[in-house]
Amino acid sequence: MKNSGKTKSKSPAIIPRAAHNVSRDDISKSALKVLYRLHKSGYQAFLVGGCVRDALLGLHPKDFDVATNATPDEVRALFGNCRLIGRRFRLAHVRFGREVIEVATFRAAANHADDDVAHDDEGRIIRDNVYGTIEEDVWRRDFTCNALYYTIAGFSIWDYTGGIGDIDRRRLVLIGNPGSRLREDPVRMLRAVRFAAKLGFTIDKSVADAIHDNVHLLSNVPAARLFDEFLKLFQAGFAERTFELLREYGLFAEIFPATDQELNEDESFRAFVRAALRNTDRRVAAGKSVTPMFLLGVFLWAPTKRMAAIRRSEEKMSESQSLSVAAYELVAQQQKRISLPRRFTGPMREMLALQPRFMSTHGKRAMNLLEHRHFRAAYDFLVLRAEVGEVDADLAKFWTSVQEKPGAERADSFEIHGEPRSKRRRRRRRKRRPKADQPS
Ligand code: ATP
Ligand code: MG
Repeated sequence: MKNSGKTKSKSPAIIPRAAHNVSRDDISKSALKVLYRLHKSGYQAFLVGGCVRDALLGLHPKDFDVATNATPDEVRALFGNCRLIGRRFRLAHVRFGREVIEVATFRAAANHADDDVAHDDEGRIIRDNVYGTIEEDVWRRDFTCNALYYTIAGFSIWDYTGGIGDIDRRRLVLIGNPGSRLREDPVRMLRAVRFAAKLGFTIDKSVADAIHDNVHLLSNVPAARLFDEFLKLFQAGFAERTFELLREYGLFAEIFPATDQELNEDESFRAFVRAALRNTDRRVAAGKSVTPMFLLGVFLWAPTKRMAAIRRSEEKMSESQSLSVAAYELVAQQQKRISLPRRFTGPMREMLALQPRFMSTHGKRAMNLLEHRHFRAAYDFLVLRAEVGEVDADLAKFWTSVQEKPGAERADSFEIHGEPRSKRRRRRRRKRRPKADQPS
């Protein structure tokens, strides 16, 4: 079912400056510069998408996207600090120090341009490389709240799709026919959940129904595209709520099938995952760094343990080895859904495989764990396991306190009372001497 385009209004509702709360103070200086220069050079230029939406909601937009009728080459001619990126559809990146303003030429909507948009058998867009006007650009966007255009010519907001009303009602509504918009690009299902969690919006019933009908299409999305989406879902500060919604809509099962199965069967694993997500959100709120490998490890923990037990029953190996082998297999399975860069999966496997080593608190080998390059992550993981009662709280306390102790006391904690290394060596060497050499 395609939209005919007949019902699409050609003229926007224009919300004048006096009737909205987006002020120039909400907009980065760099974005303003880009808007002014394009405007002065005779082009149309608007802020569009998340930045307008967030500013209207009183949130602080983190990045600014500009839409214009200037072609990428025309944009480049205007800005020295400009680079064109993207092959299929070229975008201009205008750089100001560390800030990049993305400038996109208006594009025609997927089902609006007759010839230059191609869909695959399931309705997914496979080609949409055609420039258009603002009246066309608006219809290819996903949600009405993401399709508002702010112009510095009069500081008004242009609304073609009823986005302002939906923002007021805090509703997430897809532009056009929800089913066909989700089939065109199934990632929009994840975006719906992400925006609902971040903005505290309700997913409109029409969208919710369409998600229910099309959940399975997520498995057609190239794994490479989902890694970025994974980061946005779980590292934007609303991971716990996002996770709940993903589960509610059956979307989580599509992107983490093995994890989802364990979640259904194991209440303590559910608590563990929740605790990790809550932690991640707390860290983001406090401006601390978060690494995707930690959450990946959390998601794959229960399936990895299960697989490790199977491997141990088949072959003689240590618990650590079995966890490492199992994590390797689960990562390989997971890669079919989401491409996971090796720089994350390597450390993640180590983090999981280190867990059994925390059980031992005596001797040199135990103490050496403190020097392991992934100790910190593995320790955080242990604390989380203790939080949900998977390991003894006292064990986690031991590893917490021991880190703060100076060298000598530390050795005491591990009950190491041996002689220094050099002496030991000497003694061993003496022992190895042939008997004949020794005085009788
Ligand atoms: P945020 O940056 O907070 O994640 P955003 O709305 O800015 O939110 P982006 O991914 O930066 O999201 O995209 C910018 C704009 O591009 C969106 O607001 C939307 O108008 C459009 N857009 C992005 N991805 C899609 C998509 N998959 N389908 C349709 N429109 C999209
Ligand atoms: Mg954005």
